[in-house]
Amino acid sequence: MKTPPEYIDSLRKLNLVVYLLGERVSNVVDDPIIRPSLNAVALTYALAQDPQYEDIMTATSHITGNKINRFTHIHQSTEDLVKKSKMGRLVGAHTGCCFQRCVGMDALNALSMTTYDIDAKFGTEYNSRFLKYLQYVQDEDLVCDGAMTDPKGDRSLPPHQQADPDLFLRVVEERADGIVVRGAKAHQTGAVNSHEVIVMPTITMREEDKDYAVSFAVPSDTEGITYIMGRQSCDTRKLEKGKMDRGNVVFGGHEALIVFDDVFVPWDRVFMFREYEFSGQLVEQFASYHRQSYSCKVGVGDVLIGAAQTIAEYNGVEKASHVKDKIVEMNHLNETLYCGCIACASEGHREPSGTYYVDPLLANVHKQNITRFPYEIARLAQDIAGGLMVTLPSEEDLKSPEVGKYVEKYLQGTSDVPTENRMRVLRLIENLTLGTAAVGYLTESMHGAGSPQAQRIMISRLANVKEKQKIAKKLCGITEDE
Ligand SMILES: Cc1cc2nc3c(=O)[nH]c(=O)nc-3n(C[C@H](O)[C@H](O)[C@H](O)COP(=O)(O)OP(=O)(O)OC[C@H]3O[C@@H](n4cnc5c(N)ncnc54)[C@H](O)[C@@H]3O)c2cc1C
Ligand code: SF4
Repeated sequence: MKTPPEYIDSLRKLNLVVYLLGERVSNVVDDPIIRPSLNAVALTYALAQDPQYEDIMTATSHITGNKINRFTHIHQSTEDLVKKSKMGRLVGAHTGCCFQRCVGMDALNALSMTTYDIDAKFGTEYNSRFLKYLQYVQDEDLVCDGAMTDPKGDRSLPPHQQADPDLFLRVVEERADGIVVRGAKAHQTGAVNSHEVIVMPTITMREEDKDYAVSFAVPSDTEGITYIMGRQSCDTRKLEKGKMDRGNVVFGGHEALIVFDDVFVPWDRVFMFREYEFSGQLVEQFASYHRQSYSCKVGVGDVLIGAAQTIAEYNGVEKASHVKDKIVEMNHLNETLYCGCIACASEGHREPSGTYYVDPLLANVHKQNITRFPYEIARLAQDIAGGLMVTLPSEEDLKSPEVGKYVEKYLQGTSDVPTENRMRVLRLIENLTLGTAAVGYLTESMHGAGSPQAQRIMISRLANVKEKQKIAKKLCGITEDE
């Protein structure tokens, strides 16, 4: 397994084409806006080296028997699935943000099943290709970007009916040595901190869309790939002299639009090619795994609850019954979320490929709760924090020879706590509920791994309502079914 410095060095060797705020980024690794997101991924390497977290953060490869980072592992038991949920909470709590490495893990696990199933039906050789690729990822301890979401243009139209055919990523050429693809993937988490990009289709395809039913992996610096970084609320605070106004002084996340401008993919890296019948399965399996992965939000919730309790103490209100009750409510919501990600893992099962798959109904219920509870936890944190969270002067004002003394004096809470500490924790709550980390904690909770309606469709499909009717009718003596 790589150490954090080895991971960072390996990124330095990549030649990525990255644009941020209209400029090409010459040094991606040290860019001040991007760097906190790299720090968060690097922590997934650091925790795997820590004996205290070995059981959660590492696993045994089912291919080589070697010890590997769990983020590159194919789940071999429900115990593995439970450890994955625990890993999400652990790393979320250590970083207070999106640590980006789960999308690739979820793509690998979904592909381990779908490639097997395509081969079983069509006699293809995707699974053996995939396992070779997986071993490379495990041996090199790589970060993979999981690229599913297409730009999608007019949402009411399928890929082949879009005014611009590139609004879903597609195959534009089939060659003896591979394929050429064109299109883009939107909202890509951790894209420029990744060694590899794993592309999957974004929706269920029909025959007319078969050029869009494609899955493959390419090195992230493959010719023809361009990254356009997304903005996050308050992102340019990272360019300021001090660090305090960032809220989270070390870690962050990022997303990017990845453009594939006629990118060549050799056959040994193609895992689905026009088998449109399996596009829906791949989407569903990836989405269910990724919905489980939102255990990360429980860890970030732990940070926000800790921050809310701290500001309550700094403001001298921690003994007020309504404040105590709000902290209880925040914990209740957060632990309810934890129940969901543990439950869908515990109720997982073995698929024909040998990979263990989460219970999809429970994974969707978990993600549906994720679209709601973090917003309520954030609301309660803002309630406890008070208005100063959004009217706070800057770190520079606190340090100003002219007005610093006023900031220090008038923004004091309880007399035993330095004003600076009070400002720091308010900035953290701002960061999590309105700033850069709110991208991950709130809006990503809403839309990441599919918008709420996507889960409701799955819940309506998977909840066995007919069976529920049967038992209800039986209990009240209705015999029509018999
Ligand atoms: C922070 C963040 C990180 C992400 N990271 C990744 C990543 O790493 N990899 C990845 O592949 N994806 C990623 N995503 C993408 C995520 O999966 C999508 O945001 C999600 O699937 C919703 O798609 P959309 O954003 O295009 O919204 P839209 O599809 O535009 O949805 C907006 C609304 O329209 C509704 N809607 C959309 N289409 C239809 C329709 N046909 N009929 C009726 N209603 C419709 C939706 O239900 C929703 O209410 C990320 C998203 C976010 C916000
Ligand atoms: S939002 Fe959570 S699950 Fe998704 S990549 Fe970030 S940390 Fe992982």
